[in-house]
Amino acid sequence: EGVVRFEDVHFAYIPERPILKGVSFEVPAGHTVAIVGPSGAGKSTISRLLFRFYEPTSGRIFIDGQDIAEVQQASLRKVIGMVPQDTVLFNDTIGYNIQYGRWDATPEEVREAARLAQIDRFISLLPEGYDTPVGERGLKLSGGEKQRVAIARTILKAPPILVLDEATSALDTFTEKEIQDALDRVSRGRTTLVIAHRLSTVIGADEIIVLDHGRIVERGDHASLLALG
Ligand code: ADP
Ligand code: ADP
Repeated sequence: EGVVRFEDVHFAYIPERPILKGVSFEVPAGHTVAIVGPSGAGKSTISRLLFRFYEPTSGRIFIDGQDIAEVQQASLRKVIGMVPQDTVLFNDTIGYNIQYGRWDATPEEVREAARLAQIDRFISLLPEGYDTPVGERGLKLSGGEKQRVAIARTILKAPPILVLDEATSALDTFTEKEIQDALDRVSRGRTTLVIAHRLSTVIGADEIIVLDHGRIVERGDHASLLALG
């Protein structure tokens, strides 16, 4: 369960400017595929198509053999979890932000997800910009801490398919390592598509796809791509 397949997908935001030009790949159940390539190559567009924010101009996208053109966006969001680059927190405690979308989760489950994402020390605090009635100020979270809230949310939701849009470049090296560890923990055993910005963060991927100007120009594991230079 959780097989993702792109079949000769073409896409353009505006007709005269094609962005994806025949992209085909498969993420087998439980495997990790990373998409790398220069900025503007079309990497994030692939994840937008997977959530049906846009429809391919031609070609098809399948999840477990079903064409997603026939699947409601709401249903897609139940099977695909996304850890975005930028997480918007809403007006409640970090714990509730983690619980978002899983209101049936027990406090113990929320705490465990927070612990795995290493954000548990903030669980009962409010994010910045929100003050309690007694005048306590909300907490300013760093980019890495916010991302860990998103990771905890995804751990709790436990979707069969995971999309990670990595933007660890803005974080310091120590945080980056921690985030990477947390992401590795979430993706273990799940079908994972990583939108990566650097080859160094996707060493463990089963397959790395190099996208350039909307075409797959190389594919292989980390070692074989390094050998190519
Ligand atoms: P990457 O993730 O590889 O950096 P994107 O998939 O975000 O690339 O974008 C690919 C190309 O599509 C870029 O040239 C970008 O400017 C363009 N693009 C992205 N979003 C839109 C949009 N909503 N409308 C028009 N062009 C867009
Ligand atoms: P569900 O089908 O589980 O109710 P939603 O469509 O409501 O899922 O949301 C899907 C995902 O999008 C959530 O797991 C969450 O990560 C993110 N999300 C949606 N709305 C918000 C929001 N207001 N604040 C933060 N994250 C949100």
